[in-house]
Amino acid sequence: QTFEELGLDPRLIRALSKKGIEKPTPIQRVAIPLIMEGKDVVSRAKTGSGKTYAYLLPLLQKLFSDSGSRKTAPSAFVLVPTRELCQQVYSEGLSLIEFCRVHLKVVQLTSSMPIADLKAALAGPPDILVSTPACISTCMSAAVLQTKSIQDSLSVLILDEADLLLSYGYEDDLKALIPHVPRRCQCLLMSATSSSDIEKLKKLVLHNPYILTL
Ligand code: AMP
Repeated sequence: QTFEELGLDPRLIRALSKKGIEKPTPIQRVAIPLIMEGKDVVSRAKTGSGKTYAYLLPLLQKLFSDSGSRKTAPSAFVLVPTRELCQQVYSEGLSLIEFCRVHLKVVQLTSSMPIADLKAALAGPPDILVSTPACISTCMSAAVLQTKSIQDSLSVLILDEADLLLSYGYEDDLKALIPHVPRRCQCLLMSATSSSDIEKLKKLVLHNPYILTL
């Protein structure tokens, strides 16, 4: 199967091609169509499987058609457990956006940023926010991110390396956010392992997910 057959936007296919990526990986073949249909998806995905594009490509495609709608908070949160992964997802997102030449803004928040910088990063607001759960909850406590705005604007929530999100101690931060995630928001959970922590997260954030085991 090709990216065309998965229904991917030609701009994204061109961007991938410029990066030397021509064929979807197994997880991308299964996850991309489901995510494009708007389904909640839980995916077992190891680093190296192509898991980041499995959610970034359908996310960007959705944002291509949503752009122009006025919002007061990001449309998508990508929550990650570490600063390294934050940087990695941010750069992959940014480079796809640049290759596609679309007006979408992605930002990353790091825990070392002073409140003024968090505020500046969220002014606009960006379309995609990549962050640890702790930074999001700092922004919520400081009212840099208004909970009402999250409820109005958030349409996709992605938990990447979800198995680590709980084991690294982000449970309270996630619990502070989840009540403000609107019911219509699509939730994606990517995890290298399946564990009791993942079961806990699934109950916390997902409604009726497709479970992929590749
Ligand atoms: P990930 O599993 O998301 O950490 O991705 C691992 C690496 O695989 C990244 O460097 C991607 O650029 C690369 N990659 C992602 N999708 C594909 C693909 N369909 N074909 C070849 N490489 C890919």
